[in-house]
Amino acid sequence: MTSKLFPYSPAPESRAIVNIASSYGLFIGGEFVEPDDGETFKTINPASEEVLAEVSEAGPRDIDRAVAAARKAFDGVWGSMSGKERAKYLFRIARIIHERSRELAVLESLDNGKPIKESRDVDLPLVAAHFFYYAGWADKLEHAGFGANPKPIGVAAQVIPWNFPLMMLAWKIAPALACGNTVVLKPAETTPLTALVFAEICQQAGLPAGVVNIVTGAGDTGKMLVGHDGIDKVAFTGSTEVGRAIAKTLAGTRKRLSLELGGKAANIVFDDAPIDEAVEGIVGGIFFNQGHVCCAGSRLLVQESVADEVLDRLRRRMSTLRLGDPLDKNTDVGAINSYEQLARIRELSDIGEAEGAERWSPACELPDRGFWFPPTIFTGVTQAHRIAREEIFGPVLSVLTFRTPDEAIEKANNTPYGLSAGVWTDKGSRILWMADRLRAGVVWANTFNKFDPSSPFGGYKESGYGREGGRHGLEAYLAKGK
Ligand code: NAD
Repeated sequence: MTSKLFPYSPAPESRAIVNIASSYGLFIGGEFVEPDDGETFKTINPASEEVLAEVSEAGPRDIDRAVAAARKAFDGVWGSMSGKERAKYLFRIARIIHERSRELAVLESLDNGKPIKESRDVDLPLVAAHFFYYAGWADKLEHAGFGANPKPIGVAAQVIPWNFPLMMLAWKIAPALACGNTVVLKPAETTPLTALVFAEICQQAGLPAGVVNIVTGAGDTGKMLVGHDGIDKVAFTGSTEVGRAIAKTLAGTRKRLSLELGGKAANIVFDDAPIDEAVEGIVGGIFFNQGHVCCAGSRLLVQESVADEVLDRLRRRMSTLRLGDPLDKNTDVGAINSYEQLARIRELSDIGEAEGAERWSPACELPDRGFWFPPTIFTGVTQAHRIAREEIFGPVLSVLTFRTPDEAIEKANNTPYGLSAGVWTDKGSRILWMADRLRAGVVWANTFNKFDPSSPFGGYKESGYGREGGRHGLEAYLAKGK
């Protein structure tokens, strides 16, 4: 987008560090096995549509096998192992992730389409940090505030989305294992590869067979897994629609459930905010990871008196974003993860225009192959517009204005979701006043999209229930009342 302003030479990260097999089996009982009915599917690079590998599709007998392997490992070794011993494995996994992080970052960018500077500088450091953090808890659970003698739940079924494949895996597997549970994890169908390399890392770390099982496949595989009688707990991250279906499946059973679902966060800029920093925060809030972020700041609420200035500077800043090859270290905006997601972003953006909002994107050449959408803002948006209510899950920002703090709160909370929010202001008292009234699991002040393993994350309302991260994240994996 910026070739005239700043001519950057390409700086591609080498993909030679990654060794992608032509096909992958399922990881069950500590080894890679063929799927029972032999079904496979392809995973592609969304930036080029090149096939990366054939991946197995787990069917009902495979799910039986994986759950049985996890049960055997729970009963036989992991559930009764001391926290101190479990911690050694988790620290070992964390160290191997650290050592292999360049390889994993390149693989994540290839399979997901996200810029290498994000997978390298955000995803992978957080993945390793998550394992280090929960390794530290494994032998201290009795001090976590969940009873004197906390016990694991048993076998956890974990289903994750495609936007942060390895990070979502870490958020699920690290606390589960630290608490003494065993897991069967299903990665998203468009991004299975880093989970399969993680399976290799479990082997490399000498993790006892069956403690971690990885079953690949699409929605049907996930449905079989969460509905399986042999599991004790479901942890799901994904869309509110699927979360709702899972909650119905589990209603009335003894299985525990935690849900991390969608969002439509307000990023609120007051007239006393440092405008240049706020503009960086707006850009990071919605264009980070192509806007494929559950807590993305997809609704900008800007105080009317500074709206023109903020929008001018935002447009100028957006004109400097570089869209293109995810493996290029200069790239700010990578590829959209799948054709289906691109179609959804296009559809909702067209609806935004049809409903009367004004659309703007910087001049931007999109590559010929692959799935791409330019960073886009809509002004003249009202609360009634679908682009202000529905999760677009792409690089599309809806801009609304407000006059008073009360109006900002009312508009920010006028959503079925409640995952995150951002507040930009010079006044500490206003930050606290706003944070008190915003119905969102996380409220960032003068920053956005900041994550840390020690900090709990989760939603209100249709954004789900339960917390991941921090001491709170242990609760989802400990039995109640024992
Ligand atoms: P999705 O719900 O379509 O799929 C998520 C996962 O569920 C995938 O692995 C999919 O194969 C599986 N799945 C699909 N149907 C299923 C079923 N009936 N039973 C069991 N599993 C099933 O969501 P997605 O498009 O992959 O991800 C995007 C969504 O995830 C967005 O709504 C986003 O906000 C949300 N998300 C939330 C968080 C959070 O922490 N709250 C984090 C990341 C993403």
